Amino acid sequence: MATKIRIHFQGDPRVFVARSWRIPPTPDHPDEFEFKPIPAHIDLLSVPRGRNVFANREGDRKAQALELDWIKSWGIDADVDSCEWNLIYATARASRPDGRRFCLRLIANIDEDFDQDSKRYRSFCRLVKDAMFHSTELNDSQVAGWLVPIHYGMWTMNTRDWGGKIFVSITQGCGVSWNELSYTNMNTRANRLLVARTYEALHDYGFEHGSMWSDNPFRHAIINIHAPGLTLADRLNGKAPCYIVDFSEARAHHRCKRKIPLLPLDTYIPPATMGCQEIADALLHLGFIQSSKQRTGIFKTTPALEAVQWHDRYTSEHPDLRNFKVMMAQRAKLYPEFLPVHPTFLMEFADEGLHARVEVDDTIPDSESDDESESDDDTQSDDGTQSDDESEVLEPELVPLPDSPSPEADSMDVLNHNSQPSDPDDPVSV
Ligand SMILES: [Zn+2]
Repeated sequence: MATKIRIHFQGDPRVFVARSWRIPPTPDHPDEFEFKPIPAHIDLLSVPRGRNVFANREGDRKAQALELDWIKSWGIDADVDSCEWNLIYATARASRPDGRRFCLRLIANIDEDFDQDSKRYRSFCRLVKDAMFHSTELNDSQVAGWLVPIHYGMWTMNTRDWGGKIFVSITQGCGVSWNELSYTNMNTRANRLLVARTYEALHDYGFEHGSMWSDNPFRHAIINIHAPGLTLADRLNGKAPCYIVDFSEARAHHRCKRKIPLLPLDTYIPPATMGCQEIADALLHLGFIQSSKQRTGIFKTTPALEAVQWHDRYTSEHPDLRNFKVMMAQRAKLYPEFLPVHPTFLMEFADEGLHARVEVDDTIPDSESDDESESDDDTQSDDGTQSDDESEVLEPELVPLPDSPSPEADSMDVLNHNSQPSDPDDPVSV
């Protein structure tokens, strides 16, 4: 597995050499954290000019393009740090003919007064926790590369007078955040349903994302509107691949007990009856269900309550069926006009009845929940939102900072771009 990768920001004359950084073992994980190797034929990641280097501003978290020179003072300029633009994103591409996209998340100047009480340090801890979760739970699961990006590990590069020592998390490039797309013509019903199906599928595979209670929770839903072969109609109609990213707050072994689908039901129902807190929050945030404040009139039978009642009866008649099969049956029986969450799974009903037993030709690895009461114990307010008392702050001692590279390694970290073998097919090299 390669331990070095070259990174080039178009417009800068230098090429930086990033080195693989090993996450220190933890008491829960004494073995080395393993990651997927970057394919051996890729040795240069190029960041094109334009809006490919950006940070999410505070508040609405919209992406703001950054000038490369700004990175020089990142983290050592108090004004910049106070803006909370502490995490820099860059979209990189491998040279052609491969051309695949990578997502780089960077924290610059980590050797300059890297205060462990700073927001940047908390961002660093989140990057490490995200990487750990990918390493231990996601990278070898069926969802890697399909519902979640492949993670290629943590890297450091010494850029000297440009951005000092920079931390880099490298993952598969997945596209554009729903937080951005929601302000564009891509904010279609079909794409909102695409995001919803992706969360439901993730839950069926046993993963709770854990950030639904935060501001702009769907910034973690990424749609690859640039995927090859897509027409504009495809992009508008929910046909692009969708991924969920940032698993720093995630939990594995989630046994989803949701009783209603993530569909536009447009009625109020008490969150406690939905069976899964995160799905209940997602329903509210996607505008698929009314909040208690929107609730009008007398509580009576509604589409949402109908779904719960159907689920209760179905599971009493077929208690051995796992919930993902129950939810597949529910969608087919009650909401057949919507696309399935698992379109490649074939299902067959025993008869035409509304509660007929379903047979599914495929399965999902079962995961034993760590906490059987997980759905019931979550702090929950009446409007379905969750208390944000849980701190985002990670224990500072969780992650030791990387050692400084050796002097000879230092001297290798910045290369003149002109000294590198040229690649005439590279669309972004200078
Ligand atoms: Zn769930």
